[in-house]
Amino acid sequence: MPETKKKFCVTTPLYYVNYRPHIGHAYTTLAADVLARHMRARGTEVFFQTGTDEHGASVARTAAERGSGPKEWADEISADFERAWKLLNVNYDRFIRTTEPEHERRVQDAFERMRASGDIYPGSYSDLYCASCENFYEKKDLLQGGLCPVHKKIVEEVSEDTYFFRLSGYEKKLLDHYAANPGFIEPKHRAAEIVNFVRSGLRDISVSRTKVAWGIPVRSDPKHTVYVWFDALLNYITGAGWEAGGETAEFRSVWPADVHLVGKEILRFHAVTWPAMLMSLGLPLPRKIYAHGWWTIEGDKMSKSRGNVVSPADAIKEYGADALRYFLFREVPFGHDGNFSTESLRKRYNSELANDLGNLFSRVLNLAKKHLGNKLPHKPEEASALTFARLRALDADIAADIEELRFDRALDRIWGTVGELNRGIDARKPWALSKSDPAALAAFLKDMVWCLRLVAGWVYPFMPDTSARMQMLMSIGDTEAEGVEPQKIPPLFPRKP
Ligand SMILES: [Zn+2]
Repeated sequence: MPETKKKFCVTTPLYYVNYRPHIGHAYTTLAADVLARHMRARGTEVFFQTGTDEHGASVARTAAERGSGPKEWADEISADFERAWKLLNVNYDRFIRTTEPEHERRVQDAFERMRASGDIYPGSYSDLYCASCENFYEKKDLLQGGLCPVHKKIVEEVSEDTYFFRLSGYEKKLLDHYAANPGFIEPKHRAAEIVNFVRSGLRDISVSRTKVAWGIPVRSDPKHTVYVWFDALLNYITGAGWEAGGETAEFRSVWPADVHLVGKEILRFHAVTWPAMLMSLGLPLPRKIYAHGWWTIEGDKMSKSRGNVVSPADAIKEYGADALRYFLFREVPFGHDGNFSTESLRKRYNSELANDLGNLFSRVLNLAKKHLGNKLPHKPEEASALTFARLRALDADIAADIEELRFDRALDRIWGTVGELNRGIDARKPWALSKSDPAALAAFLKDMVWCLRLVAGWVYPFMPDTSARMQMLMSIGDTEAEGVEPQKIPPLFPRKP
């Protein structure tokens, strides 16, 4: 069999179709997109998967409340997510839905395999269940008054026949894996929470329901449906082409995932339950699970009841998709919590995009138009492109920052450079130099054009449209002409009141 080249695989969680897409979903998805675009631009093949999680009691209930069937409802919301990602310029390779027949069959296969190995066994439980989370709690997890810590609603006491997954059997293996792979869970402080949680002892978990009709039937016992989380987690392998019968070339080219990006509230499922499931199936574990923080909106927790849910469409109305993409990764270090406010978005837009980057770009191109006889240099002239030669060394640092998900640091470096270039132009006083030493000015401007081309490449993963416009206006890729004429230069980011 021919060698299959491993693609770089990045995933988002599947978004639950009980909610319309909001800024929190967008954050995870955009982080994956930044990483995927960066890797592709470096010549690595990428498999970027996202999608929607469509089963469960809570979806069926919401659909019924709206007078529609669960699949109809899921179709509508799932399409909403696809539209949102289009608006934000997200370039994924696979959008998986858990109602796809192929996914359903593979989930059934996985379930039967674990049942055959004894990792899934029948039993019954009486438990505390939050219908909104689709999650079970222990008494000690609940808030005072027996409330769900996420929804602050009273949890139900449920008793039911169920199948259990032998999570307790993976305690030691998980701890060994965490110890041997220090980058497996990030950021570090969240990894410590997970290790402590596993050390405190794992209980077997329920993985089927008899009272939830809207789910994937257990093949060998169809009065049960597969617990919605168990079904959704398996998307990472079903979407990558996993087959129970044997490894496919497709699967080998994708798995193991390089990064699972998740919100901090679902880290336990991803860092404890999911790796144990993979171990049970005899599959390699993902290389990294990264939990990012939450966004508050104008200082408040985002919630339907507060009426402050920001949709991706709202967030880009005023400033465009690139400005939002920039803002989310500039405003707070990835992994920390942040606050989304229209005022800080406006400030960053005007000062960092319109002023710093936009002005630099139009200054250099207007000067070049005037003083380079309308021709932009086609190749960097090594002897004079001194700044360019020096800045190019930042490439590796910026790449490392992005690959280690330190997006804010990559942007710090880029904007540090933008500031330095603006100051450099002030210091050279081009208007005076044009009289005293036109040759020196020409060399300086050529150098600056090359620096701008570098910056255009750096901002690409974060602001793909802006990067394309910059490159187009500098006519990158024209190999015919000796030099290329700069286009007429509209502002990259028109100032906003
Ligand atoms: Zn809840």
